[in-house]
Amino acid sequence: MTAAKKATGKKAKKKTNVKKIKPLKCTSLPGVHDILPGEQSYWQQARKVLSDEAEEYGFGRIDVPIMESESLFRHVHGETSELYEKETYCFKNRSRDDVVLRSDFTPAIARAYTENGMVDLRKPIKLFTIGHAFRHERVQAGRCREFVQANYDIFGEQDPVLDAQVIQIAHRVLQKLGIKNIQFHVNSVGTRESRAHYRELLTAYFESRRTKLPSKYRDMIDTDPMRIFEATDDKTMQVCSGAPQAIDHLDKESRDHFKNLLEYLDELDLPYMIDPALDRGINYYTQTIFEVFVIDKDGTRHALGGGGRYNDLVESLGGEPTPAIGFAFGVDRLVAEMRRLKAKAYMPPEPRVYLAQIGDLAKKKSLRIFSDIESAGILVAESFGRGNLKEQMEQATKMKVDIVVIVGQKEALDGTVILKDMHTGTQETITSDKVVCSVKDALKKTVKVSKIK
Ligand code: AMP
Repeated sequence: MTAAKKATGKKAKKKTNVKKIKPLKCTSLPGVHDILPGEQSYWQQARKVLSDEAEEYGFGRIDVPIMESESLFRHVHGETSELYEKETYCFKNRSRDDVVLRSDFTPAIARAYTENGMVDLRKPIKLFTIGHAFRHERVQAGRCREFVQANYDIFGEQDPVLDAQVIQIAHRVLQKLGIKNIQFHVNSVGTRESRAHYRELLTAYFESRRTKLPSKYRDMIDTDPMRIFEATDDKTMQVCSGAPQAIDHLDKESRDHFKNLLEYLDELDLPYMIDPALDRGINYYTQTIFEVFVIDKDGTRHALGGGGRYNDLVESLGGEPTPAIGFAFGVDRLVAEMRRLKAKAYMPPEPRVYLAQIGDLAKKKSLRIFSDIESAGILVAESFGRGNLKEQMEQATKMKVDIVVIVGQKEALDGTVILKDMHTGTQETITSDKVVCSVKDALKKTVKVSKIK
């Protein structure tokens, strides 16, 4: 080695003296998860069915922010509600504002409806959205801290036919996703007035049995007696079983509304039952509430979605009195059920053309050819990373394409390509500016053959 080379070698060594990055091993947080490529076909199928159904029933898409002001969620859900008090992610941002990550969509959708003057649009106003929601729950099967909900909301109509329609949509979605053994539970909690009256009855009932309740529920008697129904211990459930039920204390308007809804549901022939114990634990509901469950082999039920009327919510946010109804599906649970049942997953359209290339110049030309074929609306597969023709042809055969466009080294220099018909094995050379027309013609000719396949 010459002295000069030695010197350069030394210099180079000095340059590579970069500080080593200390690796940080990271895992996802509890209750949140990645949706990996292998799971996407079920997710895509669920998203497609959910949004196709929304479109069929005349719902327009709305997207609302993931973050909202904390006061909105506190106001809508109530300070003492389980959802707000225990599960809502609240934090101060860098400007010291109180912010929440949405725990559900209804508060944000009602806020968007009011804030954006949607009241002036033709009624009913039907809105669909799908996105992530966040709840700081105890993590267990089917209960995550970040999950996806799909929401259907209808504003401006009080007719119970719309209550029946949202239940019908839920039913159709489940049918289309191939989810079986489902059951709808429906109930009515009445208007705000009858709910207030019912609450008084409930408070009096639990008060008379105060000593039979575990201490953690005694505090709820005055603050939020409905929450006692969420108990799962035998002692409290025993007390709850004798409690008055909202459905027996409805005002006339709510009774008629509920009766009409049931008549519509009978017409639709849906698997439903009246469930007087159904409460849903959400403060803003008025009149109809419902939940849909899937029942597993041992009879255990798992909630897939639920909803109800919220006729007072828009007004409580400063808008005009606006009857409304909505419901949400938990999409993670729909997907889990689809996987369990090995239901139909989304099948992406299959390309009928494969673009193969050999050598660097051909690779460069292929980028343009690929874009030309795609721009003509023809789905085309490629494997630009691979230079070996044999491997590329094997892949094309595996994908069962009809045509392979081959750009070899010679063709790249000549400005031509080879078109190979994968059914007959015949091939022809054409100039690369004719590639789109020739591929189209060749595909037309192979239509009959591929249909017989
Ligand atoms: P809700 O907003 O509580 O009425 O919930 C509607 C649906 O969202 C439920 O029936 C579940 O399918 C789903 N869901 C609610 N909370 C969770 C959670 N923590 N993890 C997964 N899905 C959830």
